Parts: sequence; C-alpha cells; structure tokens
Amino acid sequence: MRVAFDVDGVVADLRSVLVREAEVLFGRALSIAPDVDEDHPLEGLNHRERQRLWRRIATIENFWETLGETEEGAVARIAAVASTRRWEVLFLTKRPATAGAAAQTQTQRWLSAKGFPLPAVYVVRRSRGAIAEALGLDAVVDDQLPNCLDVVADSHARPLLLCRGAAVPAGPAVTRAAPVTLVRSVDECLEVLAAMELRLTPALRVISDLPAARSRRSVRRAPIPRRWPRFQE
Ligand SMILES: [Mg+2]
Repeated sequence: MRVAFDVDGVVADLRSVLVREAEVLFGRALSIAPDVDEDHPLEGLNHRERQRLWRRIATIENFWETLGETEEGAVARIAAVASTRRWEVLFLTKRPATAGAAAQTQTQRWLSAKGFPLPAVYVVRRSRGAIAEALGLDAVVDDQLPNCLDVVADSHARPLLLCRGAAVPAGPAVTRAAPVTLVRSVDECLEVLAAMELRLTPALRVISDLPAARSRRSVRRAPIPRRWPRFQE
C-alpha cells in the first residue's frame, strides 16, 4: 500500500513555533487557530504581519529542523508500522524555503532524527490530488479539509482528515457521504490504514499473515492451470 502523510499539523508541530515567533516579533499574545499551517496562518495577525512573520521565519537557519512532534513518537510509530506492513510512505509538504538547507533536506533530516529512516519527501507546489493520482497513492493523510477535498476531486486515493481535538470541520464533505475519513490521532490513523489495507488486498494479507511454512505449503498446493495463457505477440 502507498500512503502519503502531510507533515505540518500531522507529525510536525508548526503551530507552537509560529505562535512563539509571532509573539516575540509583535510583542503581544495571539490566539491559536487549531488548523494553522503554511497555507492557513495565525489568527490575530493582519496580512502585513503575516508576511513579516514568514520573512522572519525565512531567515532562521534550518527552521524546519527546530520543530517538535504533534504527538510524541508519532514519526517512529509510522516508521514501525510501515516497515512491518511493507507500506511505501511519502511525506508531502508545502513548506517554503528558509536559510540553510533546502526545505526538502531539512524535512528529511527532521524525519530521520525522529525515527523514520530514509524518508521520501516531496515539496508540493501544485495540487496534492494530482500528485496522489500520478503516483497511484492509496491514501493521503492531511490535517486540512481543503487538501482532503483536493485528493477526492483529483485522485482515486482515500483522504484521511486528521482532526486532533478540534471541532469537526463543518461542510458537506464531512457531514455527508463524501469519502473523507476523520481520525483523531496518528495512532487512529494507522489503525484505519491497516483496516483499509485488509480490504484492498485480502488475499495477499491472508497469505502474509500465515506462518511461513503454511504459506509455502498453500503455494505448493495451488492448482496448476492445464494450459498456460497465450501471450499476445
Ligand atoms: Mg498540514
């Protein structure tokens, strides 16, 4: 199974660092929006202040490596489940450049330091849905409803909306039958993905869940076709 995880708001805690930087820069306490990320800046800042904040962030050397995790150990847990279940994992992010290494390199180093060896990171410039379709992804995990709807509109991947402790976003996509699955934590997300994998490839999972000897025996007992199918020439 191929799964893409958004970074900020899903595994990386951008919000706390942005609030800290903004309060130092503007000298006042700020309200914290639950869904802040690089596309949805802090409440309580006007347009000019937001631009100033992002200009300040851009000067911080390797800023993206200074963030904490949204849930302690979440990256390592994703790595462990992906390794056990042999998932192919891709991290998607829209992070802008800062001083120091490229945003992709900073993100790779950060994921590696948090326990995901050899992370594949793609810095998105256009539609996440188009990427999901082009890469044949099975699922995309994101903390932003618009990104999930983008995946619904442009791909066959299943979007999982990570809505951690915040109110469920209003809208037809979540309240009606649109295929956006709500999850509350990275752990719940991994459980949903595992259940989804069982539905995607039931035969493969049954074989891989069997002890090695039994699965080898079942392969030997598989009926041999009387005639091999002809290949088109
Ligand atoms: Mg995000």
